[in-house]
Amino acid sequence: MNQPVHPRRASCAACLRAQSACICGWVRPLVSSVELLILQHPLEVANAKNSARLLHLCVGGSVLAVGEAFDEAELGALLHDGGRTPLLLYPATPDMADTPDTSAALPSPARLRLVVLDATWRKSRKMLHVNPALRRLPRLALAGMPASAYRIRKAHAPDQLSTFEASVHALGQLEGDGDRYAPLFAAFDGFVGQQAAFVPSVPIRKPISVMPSSPRRSDPGG
Ligand SMILES: [Zn+2]
Repeated sequence: MNQPVHPRRASCAACLRAQSACICGWVRPLVSSVELLILQHPLEVANAKNSARLLHLCVGGSVLAVGEAFDEAELGALLHDGGRTPLLLYPATPDMADTPDTSAALPSPARLRLVVLDATWRKSRKMLHVNPALRRLPRLALAGMPASAYRIRKAHAPDQLSTFEASVHALGQLEGDGDRYAPLFAAFDGFVGQQAAFVPSVPIRKPISVMPSSPRRSDPGG
């Protein structure tokens, strides 16, 4: 007998949320020259406030893979597929002495792949630790954040932006055309408002015990 993922409620096949909490209305399809690869930590999959799937649904051609420790060959393919140059969206850290410097000229947007870790700060450190291929990637640090990106989370530091905000800003930065991405920030506003309505106070960050079956190329790793 087949067990549905959410036995008590019907879920949306696109955003994987309960239909009553579907976020597909906030999807603003956008074609980006830079390819986007989202590596989502398994603990974020069931987090109602998580914005990575909305990001994935908005950005055409983006790839979302779930895992903590990825299979080396699979990760290599995700990072280097099509000969694009992968660039990790991550701040400089003291342990990255041998990481290539990206302040030099970058390839054109059409030859770049922006790699984003969708995880808490602590878990993103873990992902870097257990995936040497990620640790070795050249990094992209966000330049000055536009005021539009600050407004959502005034209480937080710029480096604590949501995955959605940071990624969209980075795409605009790499393509030299941040204005084109303005509709996505507006959509994100709506998404945040919806989450606030559905999840009034208690943060949902329950660890999940099973891997979801739907996101493509999921790999729990070893
Ligand atoms: Zn949906």
